[in-house]
Amino acid sequence: MSRALLTPGLQSWLQTQAQSLNANADAAQEVLPQLVLAGMHRIAVPQAFGGDGGEAIDAIDAIAQVAEHSVTAAFVLWSHRAFIDYLCLTDNNAARELWLPDLLQGRLAGATGLSNAMKFLSQLEPLQVEARPDGDDGLSVSGKLPWVTNLRPPFVVAAAVQTPLQPAPMVLAIDSRLAGVQRSADLDLLALRASNTAAIDLAGVKVGQEAVLARDGLSFLKRARPMFLSLQCGMSLGLARASLQAAEQVGAARNVLGARIAQARTQLDSLRETIREGLVSGRFVADAPALFRVRLQLAAVVQESVQLELQGSGGRAYLRDHLPDFGRRLQESAFIPVVTPSLTQLQGELNKLAAAAAPAPERALP
Ligand SMILES: Cc1cc2nc3c(=O)[nH]c(=O)nc-3n(C[C@H](O)[C@H](O)[C@H](O)COP(=O)(O)OP(=O)(O)OC[C@H]3O[C@@H](n4cnc5c(N)ncnc54)[C@H](O)[C@@H]3O)c2cc1C
Repeated sequence: MSRALLTPGLQSWLQTQAQSLNANADAAQEVLPQLVLAGMHRIAVPQAFGGDGGEAIDAIDAIAQVAEHSVTAAFVLWSHRAFIDYLCLTDNNAARELWLPDLLQGRLAGATGLSNAMKFLSQLEPLQVEARPDGDDGLSVSGKLPWVTNLRPPFVVAAAVQTPLQPAPMVLAIDSRLAGVQRSADLDLLALRASNTAAIDLAGVKVGQEAVLARDGLSFLKRARPMFLSLQCGMSLGLARASLQAAEQVGAARNVLGARIAQARTQLDSLRETIREGLVSGRFVADAPALFRVRLQLAAVVQESVQLELQGSGGRAYLRDHLPDFGRRLQESAFIPVVTPSLTQLQGELNKLAAAAAPAPERALP
């Protein structure tokens, strides 16, 4: 069981703002400061780096508890927290010293533009950012990141880049205050509209060695992946719990739906325990597919939970003035399958592994 991590102030702010955060960008600039004020981003960041310490699962629980109220705010927390995790993992002290204090103070937003890298790893598309040598040990970075969340200026964003210096990609951190970084207007999203989600154009952005989070980007991404994916699982855990709680409050339908509600709850607890155990043992670094399966299963529980909320509520769920939270959660749930790596990408990876492990088909005898 997770302990309560939200401050009363953050809980009440999220409850008041949840609809607006999903439907418009009015409170977009307040989301990160509210999360920072409550210290949500410091949870499970090692004390040696200025965080509050704790178990890795605490950071997932923090995202889950925010997602119980608002997936928009939870995704902002995910972006910021995932970037902080890159700085905890990097061997580059200069990068950590340059950005981590400001991220922990909330003076800077952390963002992760790695969906292109995830698709590159699955050989689905080429990298869209390139870094060319510039001066003695600098780099000039150009390209586009079409989707990035938490771009509340000033921000720093992680991107995987191709470089002629080596065959493998690097992972760089790009600071929005550098010349040549251009943030687009917010994307016209179906939901999660206060998430500061936009595109970034990079035109000959000059960076030094402090920006190199990893020269060997592939091994860095593999090491970062367990926390990156586990933090995402927090969004599903929280959203599903909120829907199940709403489904439980519907009264008469409880007799009909009770067994399914209980089963979904048991699944959530068991999947959270799998995440906790995998992070403690470190097994997800070598066995990434185990975590892929957890994310796929959680996505299915989210769908089931939202359906249970709908079926328990009946027609009232269609009345915005009666049950506005259902409509919001329905839209929020549509985000779960497309978070990088998307369910399609995860399933594609599992299919490839299954095909590689299958015995070669027997040849027909002539
Ligand atoms: C609100 C919002 C915020 C976002 N924020 C960020 C962010 O902060 N950072 C970031 O990096 N990205 C972000 N994204 C981008 C998001 O993560 C991408 O939508 C995600 O990577 C899915 O990629 P895709 O859209 O190409 O769809 P995919 O799910 O990859 O699928 C699209 C197509 O590709 C095909 N396909 C996919 N995988 C395979 C496969 N293995 N084999 C064969 N065919 C395949 C599918 O059939 C499908 O036709 C955000 C998106 C949204 C909606």
